[in-house]
Amino acid sequence: MCMCGMAFSLEERLQLGIHGLLPPCFLSQDVQLLRVLRNYDLKKDDLDRYVLLMGLQDRNEKLFYYVLMSDIERFMPIVYTPTVGQACQQYGLTYRRPSVSDLHLLHISCEESGLYRTLPADSHGLLMTCGPCWNAHATRPSTDVAFFNIMAEIFLSRSHEGPVFYSGEGLETHINNVVEILRENFLEDVVTGCDFSEEPESRYESRGDDAVVVTDGERILGLGDLGCYGMGIPVGKLALYTACGGIPPQKCLPIMLDVGTDNEELLKDPLYIGLRHKRVRGEAYDELLDEFMKAVTDRYGMNCLIQFEDFANVNAFRLLHKYRNQYLTFNDDIQGTAAVAVAGLLAALRITKSRMSDHTIVFQGAGEAAMGIAELIIMAMEKEGLPHDECVRKIWMVDSKGLIVKGRDHLTPEKRRFAHEHVQMRSLEDVVQELKPTAIIGVAAIPGAFTERIIKNMAAFNERPIIFALSNPTSKAECTAEQCYTLTQGRGIFASGSPFDPVILADGQRFFPGQGNNAYVFPGVALGAIVCSMSHIPEQIFLITAETIADLVTEKDLAEGRLYPPLTCIQDVSFRIAVRTVEYAYRHQMAMLQPEPADKEALVRSYVYNTDYDDFTVDSYRWPDEAMNIQ
Ligand code: NAP
Ligand code: MN
Repeated sequence: MCMCGMAFSLEERLQLGIHGLLPPCFLSQDVQLLRVLRNYDLKKDDLDRYVLLMGLQDRNEKLFYYVLMSDIERFMPIVYTPTVGQACQQYGLTYRRPSVSDLHLLHISCEESGLYRTLPADSHGLLMTCGPCWNAHATRPSTDVAFFNIMAEIFLSRSHEGPVFYSGEGLETHINNVVEILRENFLEDVVTGCDFSEEPESRYESRGDDAVVVTDGERILGLGDLGCYGMGIPVGKLALYTACGGIPPQKCLPIMLDVGTDNEELLKDPLYIGLRHKRVRGEAYDELLDEFMKAVTDRYGMNCLIQFEDFANVNAFRLLHKYRNQYLTFNDDIQGTAAVAVAGLLAALRITKSRMSDHTIVFQGAGEAAMGIAELIIMAMEKEGLPHDECVRKIWMVDSKGLIVKGRDHLTPEKRRFAHEHVQMRSLEDVVQELKPTAIIGVAAIPGAFTERIIKNMAAFNERPIIFALSNPTSKAECTAEQCYTLTQGRGIFASGSPFDPVILADGQRFFPGQGNNAYVFPGVALGAIVCSMSHIPEQIFLITAETIADLVTEKDLAEGRLYPPLTCIQDVSFRIAVRTVEYAYRHQMAMLQPEPADKEALVRSYVYNTDYDDFTVDSYRWPDEAMNIQ
């Protein structure tokens, strides 16, 4: 299905010296799209579709994004939750190489032509492969036509580095090398024999508009510790940075910090591709992270955005608090989730015709998602004028030990904040029965936790009960959309983390379940933060984001049960979030891009990625005919 070259015009084929190597036919991107879709439909399951799309991303990035953007609602569940979860679990099987799938061919050619050299695996167990900046070769002549043909296909479409697996093995000797690893392996060292002298270092260092998504694979979706297989997540997230936010893919770098895994099954699996030892923890881990943050910002500038993704909560909160004011960083599982959940709640308030501070909210789960959402709910309530302490009292949490109450054991500092005076209770059913909440939010990855009794009770206590089953992937949801709508006779206000099909009740009522997908949040926030080179991301940004999303929900959407704008509008949602982020940044002296542009929308728009193929014909012009007369 290699057909990227087919889009070259005759002129380009002649000028690039590849005429005759391609079939004598010119295909538009639309025909290429059609061909991808045909192939896509032939695949037997979603995992195969994932592999097909990832292969396309490696081969022809512009076409990949063209495909994604042609029907984001259809492809998002493949490149992101739920299918990406399955892909991570089977990463050992689906793994080809990071990014460019034609690796072997490419690398053989590289070695032979002497233009490139492959990166040796680092002696400390570093598994890191990355492509150079392909665009650098756009105008470089090559004598190796076959090689150039391959290169042409690739550089046309991709120009970003591949994912990085950064290992924590041999930490002591490794730590001071992080900067070197990033420095050496990204440009100069990868491409040898090419003269980069005209392209100064500052090419990377001064831009400050790059974005990194990093994971250590310890809490992948609701699936737990997948170690090195977690790489699927940053790759998928960054695909959405581009597809939803319009952030150019060459600015995006997925990183996996491999510090081992505590997943015994993986440790025993011969197919496992990560380090075979228990997770490194404690001081060594913290030092590695410090060094990593420093290395990334040394390399890409202080305004390089670093999104933390799917870290276990023992590390997630600590690292967020440690870095949030010092670096341009956020944790999507805590803050992104918070924004999307609160956006759903704000939309729900338009249905219940109430204020946030009128609600009593019970969380099933007291981890990253729950704490993040609770934090933002409190901000929203405070904005309505409720004093802080009273806001906190409206929020209850249930963790694996039961209801969180004062004096209970196993309370972390985060949990202690929400420990109210109450007798201890074990089961969520009893808690709901007793507290009679107006809203329940499931974020514990315990499937079926919202039992029939709980849902019916919610419907009995409330005219319009709010029931959010946010755990991912679909297999972990607390209840299905159908259960919620059926058991509440269509009165339940429902949102889920992974998509559910529309539900039609026996009486003909039709509902479109809201998908509280973080993808509404992180691409827009990231876009806003990098276009104006924000210094850091304050919590306020996530409330603004939630409000922006909720504002874009129409009355018609609400009537159909939708709490979020349709996914088809996600690019517009991201754009609005980005603009409001930029406005906030300038209002609060957090934007490093100076002078302040008058038109913020134009600034954001100017940045957005275009999936059209670039023109590769050499610039040429003519003088007026009479001026060119031969004397
Ligand atoms: P986390 O930090 O690991 O927290 C999980 C929480 O669930 C912990 O507080 C844990 O209790 C609690 N828990 C475990 N077993 C329980 C049980 N039997 N009863 C009650 N609580 C129990 O994970 P997280 O980041 O919050 O994510 C949790 C889930 O939310 C995942 O499935 C994730 O995919 C989903 N999520 C969804 C979205 C979205 O839809 N937009 C966004 C982010 C996360 P202990 O504290 O006692 O261990
Ligand atoms: Mn996540």
